[in-house]
Amino acid sequence: MDPFEDTLRRLREAFSSGLTRPAEFRAAQLKALGCFLRDNRQLLQQALEQDLRKSAAESEISEIVIIQGEIDLALRNLRAWMKDEKASTNLVTQLDSAFIHKEPFGLVLIIAPWNYPLNLTLVPLVGALAAGNCVVLKPSELSQSTERVLAEVLPRYLDQGRVALPRRPPCPTSLPLPAGEVQLSPGPAVSPEPPVASQSCFAVALGGPEETGRLLEHKFDYIFFTGSPRVGKIVMAAASKHLTPVTLELGGKNPCYVDDDCDPQTVANRVAFFRYFNTGQTCVVPDYVLCSPETQERLLPALQNAITRFYGEDPKSSPNLGRIINEKHFQRLRGLLDCGRVAIGGQSDESERYIAPTVLVDVQDTEPVMQEEIFGPILPIMNVRGLDEAIDFINRREKPLALYAFSNSSQVVKQVLDRTNSGIFGGNKGFMHLTLPTLPLGGVGNSGMGRYHGKFSFDTFSHHRACLLCSAGLEKLNQIIYPPYPDWKKKL
Ligand code: NAD
Repeated sequence: MDPFEDTLRRLREAFSSGLTRPAEFRAAQLKALGCFLRDNRQLLQQALEQDLRKSAAESEISEIVIIQGEIDLALRNLRAWMKDEKASTNLVTQLDSAFIHKEPFGLVLIIAPWNYPLNLTLVPLVGALAAGNCVVLKPSELSQSTERVLAEVLPRYLDQGRVALPRRPPCPTSLPLPAGEVQLSPGPAVSPEPPVASQSCFAVALGGPEETGRLLEHKFDYIFFTGSPRVGKIVMAAASKHLTPVTLELGGKNPCYVDDDCDPQTVANRVAFFRYFNTGQTCVVPDYVLCSPETQERLLPALQNAITRFYGEDPKSSPNLGRIINEKHFQRLRGLLDCGRVAIGGQSDESERYIAPTVLVDVQDTEPVMQEEIFGPILPIMNVRGLDEAIDFINRREKPLALYAFSNSSQVVKQVLDRTNSGIFGGNKGFMHLTLPTLPLGGVGNSGMGRYHGKFSFDTFSHHRACLLCSAGLEKLNQIIYPPYPDWKKKL
C-alpha cells in the first residue's frame, strides 16, 4: 500500500476546490502558524535542545524570531503581493489589459534538513501558504524531537492532515507533548489511517531517504528542497520525471578571505562567532579562511582570545556551545581533526558528541577537510600569497553558497565581490543576511538554484501567469493582423 496516495489525493482535491486561494484563508493559515509558535515556544526550545543542545538564545534568534518575522511580513503585505502587476502594451495590444497574475502552483513539497530544523521547515512554509498552495512538509528525520513536534502539534493549528508511515521505529524523544496528541505509529505491523480532514490543505510526511524517495515518485507542482548537493541531485532527477519545477537550497564550502590590511581581533571575533554558531552546523558559515602566513600568525592568538571569551576556558561546559547532531557526523568530524595541525582546540568526547571549537593550520588543499563541506566547529586556515591567489583559489572551485572578505580596504572587499560568484556575499560581516527578509537566500551553481525569504518566498511559490484581456468587441481593429498580409518584401 502506498502510504502517501490517499493524503496526496485529498490535498489535490482541496486545492482544486479553491479553498486555499482567497487572501482570508491564506492569512488565517499564517496567523495559525504564528499561534503555533507562540503557544509552543517552550516545547520547541526543548525539542531544539534535545536535537542539537541548542541554547534558548540561539533557538530564539536563529529559528523562532526569524519565522515570526517572516509571518508578520507576509501578513502585512499579503494583499499587495497578491495584486496583479500591470504590464505595458504595444501598438497591437494598446487597448487590451496586460498584467501578471500571481497564482499558487498547487501541491507543493517542502523537504528540510536538520541543522535549523524549525527555521528551514517553517520559513519556506510561510511562503508556500502565503502563495495559496497546499503543502506536504517533510522535516528531517535526524532532528527527531523537532520532527515529532512538527508532526504532532503543528497540524492541530493548520488545516488538518498528517501522513503516518508504517515501519517507523519508535521515536526516542522524551518530550512531553501537549494533551490530545496522536502517537506516531511505533511498530512494523501498524499502518494507521492518516487523520486527514476532508478539505485538508496541509500534511506532514515522516521518514528518511527511503520514504522520501517514495514520496518523490509522486507528482508535485513544486518542490522546495534544502539539503546537500548530493541529495539535491536525487530530488532534481525525481522532479524531472514529472517536469516539476524545483528550488534547491544546497551547501558547499564557503571561503573567507582575510586581507593583510585588517584588525586581527575584529576579524577573529566575527569569524569565530559565525563559524561556531550552532556548533558550525550552518550552511552559510565561513568554512575555511584564506590568508597570508603573516596574517595567520596575527589571527591565531586573536581567535583563541575570541573563543575563550565566547565559550570560556572549558568550552565543553559552556551552555552556549551545542553538540553534533548524531554519531555518524561526530565520527566524520573527528576524522577531519587529523588534517593539518591543530592550532586551537582539537578535543572531542564521543559520549556527548562534543567537538571543541577548533582551528587547523598547515592544511593541504587535497586533505578531506578542504575537499568536503565541514559542517562542524572546525576552521582550517589555508595560506595564499595575496588577493589574486585567493581569488584564483576560490574561482577554481564550485560556486559557493556564501563568500566572505575581511579587509580595512573597501577596494579589496569590492574586488573580491566583483571577481567571484556566490549565492550570498559578506564584506567584513558574517551571515546576518538571514535576518533580512529584504535579501534573497539562494545558491548558484553547485550551491543551488532559486531563492526565498520575504517577498522572494511568495514569488518562488507563485506561478507568474502572463495575462492579456481584450474586449470582446472592436473586432474591426483586429483586421490589420489577419491574413491576407500585405507584401512585406515591397515594404522592406
Ligand atoms: P541531506 O541532503 O542529507 O538531507 C536533507 C533532506 O533530504 C532530509 O529531509 C532527508 O530526509 C532527505 N534525504 C536524505 N537522503 C535522501 C535521499 N537519498 N532521497 C531523498 N531524500 C533524502 O542534508 P542534511 O544532512 O539534512 O543537511 C545538511 C546539508 O544541507 C548541508 O550540505 C548544508 O549545507 C545544506 N543546507 C543548506 C541550506 C541552504 O539554505 N542552502 C540550509 C541548511 C543546510
